[in-house]
Amino acid sequence: MAQSTNRVIAHYERYVMNTYTRSPLVLTKGKGSRVWDVEGREYLDLFPGWGVSGLGYNHPWVMTALRGQSGRVIHISNNYYHPLQAQAAKQLVELSFDGKVFFSNSGAEAVETAVKLVRRWGHSANGAGIGQAGGRYEIIAMQQSFHGRTMAAVSATGQSKHRQGFEPLVPGFVHVPFNDLEAVRRAVTLKTVAVLVEPIQGEGGVNIAGEAFLKGLRTLCDEQKLLLIFDEVQTGMGRTGTWFAYQHSGVEPDVMLLAKTLGGGFPIGAVIAKRAIAETLTPGTHATTYGGSPLGCACILAVIEAIKKQALLERVNRFGPYILKRLEKLKARVPFITDVRGRGFMIGIELTIDGRPLVDACRTKRLLINCTQERVLRLLPAMTITKAQLDRALQILEDVLTHDEAGAMPAARA
Ligand SMILES: *Cc1c(COP(=O)(O)O)cnc(C)c1O
Repeated sequence: MAQSTNRVIAHYERYVMNTYTRSPLVLTKGKGSRVWDVEGREYLDLFPGWGVSGLGYNHPWVMTALRGQSGRVIHISNNYYHPLQAQAAKQLVELSFDGKVFFSNSGAEAVETAVKLVRRWGHSANGAGIGQAGGRYEIIAMQQSFHGRTMAAVSATGQSKHRQGFEPLVPGFVHVPFNDLEAVRRAVTLKTVAVLVEPIQGEGGVNIAGEAFLKGLRTLCDEQKLLLIFDEVQTGMGRTGTWFAYQHSGVEPDVMLLAKTLGGGFPIGAVIAKRAIAETLTPGTHATTYGGSPLGCACILAVIEAIKKQALLERVNRFGPYILKRLEKLKARVPFITDVRGRGFMIGIELTIDGRPLVDACRTKRLLINCTQERVLRLLPAMTITKAQLDRALQILEDVLTHDEAGAMPAARA
């Protein structure tokens, strides 16, 4: 094979901007929870595409939708209508709350859209604060949050490491400690228009928003006439065992952001906003060339159909607690595990040591996982993963975390 791993990596080093920390694997094929490298080696992937392949790589229904639609038309401009965009929007609204959808191409672009939407609302007569004319624009976001890499998204992100060197940031964001309702309350000013929160922080370390916190936010937003925005880019589309993570708490947002699993691998994002707020964006105020293409919307419809007809939420609810239980047992045996947490198929294992060598050790045993915030191993298995695959993956993980692998004993580094 001409394309050896080293040759591809050498070309990246010469021609591709060095913005990612990459593992030395050249992946060329995927199916379900399995992925193959250019040398033909097979891996089990418990973190397929940062959660993008939430239905597994190349889900057959998504593939059928892609093939079928690409034979008709890939893209039409948003100056016209397409039946699939209408259907995808209708289904997303029916699964969540009464509102309207804007389709973007990525999670960050969904964040950008939400920022523009709530600012425009805050500047409108509708969005005027209590006893005050328009002109509200401030968004209260959370420390340790992650909202993407465009300028507004990094400005919304509550971690300095993602912001450093890119100043001046977009003004109008303040950050408060996650799960601290009083801090949110104290941060509200006459300029505040919205609160932005991930129901479970993903990149921030799988930190779960407490139910009391979410309920308190809803009450506070209602009292102060603020909009509540849930970034469900990572938690949405079944990841946590409900269509959207907010449904566990019953706290409905005013605006919700989706991407990642939404397209089953195809790049597409969405913003859903309650009807009265959505009306704030009028023709000419916001747009994107590719957003809501027939191809992307065909993928969304296939993803929704698969989650429904293949009973994938039920699978997540059956196996999610099983994973947590096994990891809890592991925690009891491994002194450097301090916490195991998560919901459904979104799981974090917090360590007292650097988790990255453990990710490497798993990879040599043909298991792909992620480490975030240096000390949190993160698992986002595909909802279609089989019990046998899950058991094999957990066995490898348990072996790596309990054994001395190639002289790199994790316990010794604790
Ligand atoms: C991944 C992610 C984003 C950014 O999405 P992109 O598609 O990478 O722009 C935003 N918010 C959350 C919660 C995410 O996990």
